[in-house]
Amino acid sequence: MVRVRSSLAQLPAYVPGCKMPGAVALASNESPYGLLPGVTARLAELAGGVSRYPDLSATALVQALAEHHDVETERIAVGAGSSEVCAQLLHSVVGPGDEVVFGWRSFEAYPILTAVAGGTAVQVPLRAHGLDLDAMAEMVSDRTRLVFVCNPNNPTSTAVGEQALRDFADRVPEDVLIVVDEAYREYADPELVPDALTLLGDRPNVVVLRTFSKAYGLAGLRVGYCVGSPGIAAHVRKTQIPFSVSALAQEAAMVALGEHAEVVRRAALTVAERQRVTGRLRALGFEVPDSQANFVWLPLAGDSGDFALHCLGGDVVVRPFVGEGVRVTIGLRAENDALLALAASWRG
Ligand SMILES: *Cc1c(COP(=O)(O)O)cnc(C)c1O
Repeated sequence: MVRVRSSLAQLPAYVPGCKMPGAVALASNESPYGLLPGVTARLAELAGGVSRYPDLSATALVQALAEHHDVETERIAVGAGSSEVCAQLLHSVVGPGDEVVFGWRSFEAYPILTAVAGGTAVQVPLRAHGLDLDAMAEMVSDRTRLVFVCNPNNPTSTAVGEQALRDFADRVPEDVLIVVDEAYREYADPELVPDALTLLGDRPNVVVLRTFSKAYGLAGLRVGYCVGSPGIAAHVRKTQIPFSVSALAQEAAMVALGEHAEVVRRAALTVAERQRVTGRLRALGFEVPDSQANFVWLPLAGDSGDFALHCLGGDVVVRPFVGEGVRVTIGLRAENDALLALAASWRG
């Protein structure tokens, strides 16, 4: 019998949103609008070149991102989705037994990637469906090397504000890395939710994570990145699997970045739909926390599995977290209408 790492035995496998051909997919927080203009043509142009390795350091993409955020290229590192960048960050700072603090429930990759990196997860319960930054700051110890702050939080959709985030960063020691995961930044109200790069970007122990998987519509191509201090970014480059970001992914991300105005327009459509869906669900009697993302959270506790099955029966796939709640991605208007009809007929 091959001896495997005991720390992986208890580890849950990542549960992806289930895929059902022909059904309405509201389980994975993808953009419902498909590829941005120009991306399809560029992919077709480049498809013949994939017998060659991509640019290892994604030079052109990093340059474009540096211009987009108005920061030095040295501060940017890329990975195959921001999930891989999470892993790269963990491998940069976490050794055996070191602690990684995050709210729970939050992004389900955090505990998995922490354990794979050999770290110990410290999960801090949410308060009122949101991150409890005070409690998280209290859980930071001498063993803590990294803290994930998912803002807005997946799957509960709520966000922490500017004062709370700044106070938190003030309380965390300078030798602990704070990773602010802003996968849903484009859907957040900039008046209510701080851009961590603007707020904390000058702090050497803060890293901001962004992805092309959500508002930029490239979930299937796997590109994400972080912006941090040049020192941390250098480590994130070292811990990347060589060539993990394919040439197609690099080029598609550059085209998508150039379509920023269209990204903003589409995000506004999603936000308007989110408000409509939230209002209608509340009118039906559901509790719906204020969302700052492209999904809503229904804290149905013991009814979560039942609600998800009911939706599946109506060909709408949502994402249940059994015993806790259901995450519902905001889709196209007709898709949202299908969800709302099912919500109305639940136990009806
Ligand atoms: C979807 C998501 C990501 C992005 O994952 P990719 O690996 O870039 O596809 C990162 N963080 C959170 C919290 C997410 O929900």
